[in-house]
Amino acid sequence: MEEGINRNRFISDVMHALVHNGFLFTVIVMCLVHAGLLGATWWLGVTQLAFFNVLSVTVYLFSIFLCKAGFILPVFFAIPVEVCAYAAVSVHYSGWECGSYYFMFSIVPIVIYFGCFIFKGTRRLLIVGVLALIFAVFAVLYFMYSDATPVYAVSEAGSRALLIYSSFVMFFSMVFYSAIYIYASEMVRSDLEQANEQLSADAQNDALTGLLNRRGFLPVIEALMDGDPRHHFCIAFSDIDNFKRINDSYGHDCGDEVLRHVAKMIKKEMHGCAICRWGGEEMVILMRDYDLAVAKQKMEYLRKSIEITPTLFYNQRINITVTIGLEEYRDTYHDPEEIIKVADERMYQGKQHGKNMCVWEDLKKAS
Ligand code: GH3
Ligand code: MG
Ligand code: MG
Repeated sequence: MEEGINRNRFISDVMHALVHNGFLFTVIVMCLVHAGLLGATWWLGVTQLAFFNVLSVTVYLFSIFLCKAGFILPVFFAIPVEVCAYAAVSVHYSGWECGSYYFMFSIVPIVIYFGCFIFKGTRRLLIVGVLALIFAVFAVLYFMYSDATPVYAVSEAGSRALLIYSSFVMFFSMVFYSAIYIYASEMVRSDLEQANEQLSADAQNDALTGLLNRRGFLPVIEALMDGDPRHHFCIAFSDIDNFKRINDSYGHDCGDEVLRHVAKMIKKEMHGCAICRWGGEEMVILMRDYDLAVAKQKMEYLRKSIEITPTLFYNQRINITVTIGLEEYRDTYHDPEEIIKVADERMYQGKQHGKNMCVWEDLKKAS
């Protein structure tokens, strides 16, 4: 299993490297192809062609240097010029049967693939122009040389070997560029999917605390209200006491750290609950399947935990407290905001009665 994963990772690393260094790889392979042709034509005694291959190898060695230096454009045009010139010289000296015109077809995917990377918009007509020229050269060579007698009479075995060689180069080129084209588009698609996931996560979460924001939170309550059977739940509205004073005394960064700290504590204590940063220093907790008695206990415990756990900010211990308003879901609520509003009002009453407390009923009525 792990071996399979490693193999897949290896293949994907290789493909990744090929997509990003495709042009350099192409030029290196073309250099090697001509090095092979140099050996073959020398061995077959087609001396002029062997010399031409020396020239081609030199062109591609220089192209490797240009690619590494970032000069892609001259190399892009040098490739079809070299390949067409080689095909012309080759059919002249070694004959049509040796199949060197296949090299011209082998660069069609190269011209399209890299041309589309280099040129955008109407400049892509240049690609069409290059392709048309390649085909025109092929047609001219066909009419001039398909029945002509070559300068060198290459043996039948030698000419077959050269034909197989050039057709293999064409075959390899078609397979290779199709593969990297598919891989490159899949890479782009998967990057886009990741970016989309990140965007929708960003749209539903608060960047500072990582809690849900309203957009992410309200549908969770709505789903509980609309569910069949309806869930029982409680809502707690918490607000940090005298938070403005923390900002004023220790700075805004410290205020942010306090918010992160409180969010972390709520997440820890209320594991499994949906928690929302409602605004500024207000956080709302949805307690699914809690009745009011349990919710009260939980909120009292949370309030005390926050009270005794200071925020550490550059060696300073910042003590904070929160005031919490609580409300239990009843059938009379039809909108999430209605129940949140009641919890908010109770929190506000807690502020008026001295802060740092949990309020689960209307204090005015109670008193
Ligand atoms: P109370 O005890 O009545 O709740 O008083 P308070 O000071 O906590 O409330 P008030 O509404 O007067 O001040 C809230 C402050 O929260 C004001 C605002 O500048 C600050 N605030 C809002 N959002 C952020 C934030 O993201 N980071 C920081 N550092 N401060 C924030
Ligand atoms: Mg406050
Ligand atoms: Mg507030």
